[in-house]
Amino acid sequence: MPKNDNIDNIIDHKLFTEDDIHQMCVKLGKQLTEDYAGKKPLVIGALKGAIFFLTDLVREMNVKEEIDFMDVSSYGDSFESSGEVKIISDLATDVKDRDVLIVEDIVDTGLTLKYMKDLLQKRGAKSVKCCVLLNKEANRKVDVEVEYYGSQVGNEFVVGYGLDFMNFYRNLRYIGVLKPEVIKLANNK
Ligand code: 5GP
Ligand code: MG
Ligand code: MG
Repeated sequence: MPKNDNIDNIIDHKLFTEDDIHQMCVKLGKQLTEDYAGKKPLVIGALKGAIFFLTDLVREMNVKEEIDFMDVSSYGDSFESSGEVKIISDLATDVKDRDVLIVEDIVDTGLTLKYMKDLLQKRGAKSVKCCVLLNKEANRKVDVEVEYYGSQVGNEFVVGYGLDFMNFYRNLRYIGVLKPEVIKLANNK
């Protein structure tokens, strides 16, 4: 992996600019403001990928909301979710009778999101919906409803704006596709 390189050198091409992402947040925020009017939703950010998206999104929502975080991780390598999910760090808030909105960076197979939705439903939430920035719909392995999303993406590995590769590159302001040689280098380690 290029260590001291300029961070942009690992990107093959950009998919979404800062402005594209901002527009998605504005649009979603407007919709959520309408849909959650008069409610006090609990917005749950899925750590760590959703942190940038969540902070931008909630500031576009004119709703009295609470924020909490949950770190849920699926076993497996960086590219494929195994389906087995474990809670690394749980919520501090009781979700019973709450309108819950899960905020995720990306939905791929859907396994992580389905696990979270089922769990929060079991804990007695009044409603459980989700808002994800990117939707890899063609890759879905389980049936899970994605109520709100910013954009569809194809089956390519994206990084930036919270999305990582081996825990790096989350701090890119845009979202881009990794150069194949970066992935190859990491796989050969
Ligand atoms: P799922 O359980 O839907 O297969 O996977 C969800 C998680 O896999 C996401 O929250 C994200 O952490 C990771 N993931 C899936 N696709 C990508 C991708 O293209 N780029 C990055 N950085 N992570 C991804
Ligand atoms: Mg995630
Ligand atoms: Mg990840």
